[in-house]
Amino acid sequence: MSSVVWNDGAWRDGAEPLLSVNANGVWLASSVFDGARAFENVAPDLDLHCQRLNRSAAVLGLKPLMSAGEIFDLAWEGIKKYPSGAELYIKPLYWAESGFVAPDPDSTRFALSISEAPLPTAAGFSACLSSYRRPSPEVAPTQAKASCLYPNAGRALQEAQAAGYDNAVMLDPIGFVAEFATANIFMVKDGVVSTPVPNGCFLNGITRQRVIALLRGRDIEVQERQITPEELEQADEIFNTGNYSKVMPVIRYQSRDLQPGPVAALARELYWEFAHKTS
Ligand code: PMP
Repeated sequence: MSSVVWNDGAWRDGAEPLLSVNANGVWLASSVFDGARAFENVAPDLDLHCQRLNRSAAVLGLKPLMSAGEIFDLAWEGIKKYPSGAELYIKPLYWAESGFVAPDPDSTRFALSISEAPLPTAAGFSACLSSYRRPSPEVAPTQAKASCLYPNAGRALQEAQAAGYDNAVMLDPIGFVAEFATANIFMVKDGVVSTPVPNGCFLNGITRQRVIALLRGRDIEVQERQITPEELEQADEIFNTGNYSKVMPVIRYQSRDLQPGPVAALARELYWEFAHKTS
């Protein structure tokens, strides 16, 4: 799959190396990124993803080098390098080039990667409860989309995949349901839609917020509250939201098969309707 990367004023082939192993962002992990999608010449909520990137940079003490609007325009410049039907993943990043542990804000660098990444076509995915948890804001920069949070998600995924599942449900440090390793989580029980209330331990996703607003716009009540792992086990429906795959139902949780349900289907439909309207 091809990718292009913008850095220091020029577009280059995505395979070209940019970073030294001595860059703080590589060996000490002061780096942040965001992820957005473009397909059929629409890029839903791309403006919000660009704004979040700059907020993430500030959380890690990096200096945002570009305005969100400039990143947005640059992303569109890159999207237009691909045919209009291409399914793309847009990933802007900041990292610190120098600083010993404490990143030097003046060494912040920026790159924007755009790569071909087909939207998942699976009917749903399986998930298990992870033995790894999300960290609390006192021990990790959970309010940022920081690269350093992803090895924890990565080992949760490895654990789940080794047990034959596609993804993992992670709890917060107290023991309430937080999110999937790479997306937010919703459940439905007896017609009531619930999703964990943001408590600083997981990303309050842009797709999550969009889906809540779309469902509420159809007069569907969505409760943001604490959810126990036991409740999740009893759910009629479970689904995820995230920029990469948008809305996908869970078709097996732990040892139980689940049917893709009507709320996930509606949320997905409303999301795509919204996405096409924003073009
Ligand atoms: N949680 C995690 C850990 C994620 O990586 C993502 C993907 N960015 C999400 C939630 C969903 O966030 P968004 O809808 O903003 O993509």
